[in-house]
Amino acid sequence: MQRNADDEVSNIITLKIILKMKTLIRILLMLFVSLQAFGWGQTGHRAMGLLAEKHLSKKARKELNRILKGESIAMTSTWMDEIRSDTSFRYSYDWHWVTVPDGQTYEQSEKNPKGDVIAAIEQIIAELKSGKFSGKEEMIRVKMLVHLVGDIHQPLHVGIGPDRGGNNVKVMWFRADSNLHRVWDSEMIDDKNLSYTEFANWIGSPAQNDLTTWQAASVRDWAKESISYRKQVYDYGDGKMGYEYAYKYFDIVKLRIQQSGVRLAKVLNEIYG
Ligand SMILES: [Zn+2]
Repeated sequence: MQRNADDEVSNIITLKIILKMKTLIRILLMLFVSLQAFGWGQTGHRAMGLLAEKHLSKKARKELNRILKGESIAMTSTWMDEIRSDTSFRYSYDWHWVTVPDGQTYEQSEKNPKGDVIAAIEQIIAELKSGKFSGKEEMIRVKMLVHLVGDIHQPLHVGIGPDRGGNNVKVMWFRADSNLHRVWDSEMIDDKNLSYTEFANWIGSPAQNDLTTWQAASVRDWAKESISYRKQVYDYGDGKMGYEYAYKYFDIVKLRIQQSGVRLAKVLNEIYG
């Protein structure tokens, strides 16, 4: 009898320990997810969305207004980051980025079986063009497309691999701990202290010849351009980052957001215009 009671007590203790460990693992996982960088921060993504809205055809604007139930492109642009804790979207967790090691092309590189930002954008464009989806499914795909066209233009979302798109490159942003990825996602932009509408107005629309050239580029060209900025992006010296780095490279941030906005408009016009 005594032995059974002892067993029971020890079973209860084991169960309690397992439950505690499960909670701990859950907390650690949540922490890990929250520490991962998600692409341009909210200001960058929304500024891109607002710029795109300015270049939509009348018909595309009307169609998108219907599909998104009146929500603006700007405000839908961050939705794909907001669903990171929703496991029903687990299939899309790796779609925000792609690894293309130095000296390789995307075609040569080893592909992530869970997908990547290039494959996802190409697939969603093809699916939306084919009219495969309607209602909520179509809305989801449009929101994903809006977000991912932004992400692929953030140079560190086309990463070299080992440093996880600069997430593992610990730096100081002014006096605070940060990492290279976060500096590009949001630190440089947030430091300007602008709303997304102010930021979009500051960026403005490109000259007509730039607009034509940029809109003619393919999804894979967008990724190649992101790769082309690596020399500048990794020029972080001793890792104490601030005014000097932003002064040298903030124009790239503005350019990439401007390009992503007009290109998103082009893609949406092709599908719905
Ligand atoms: Zn993202």
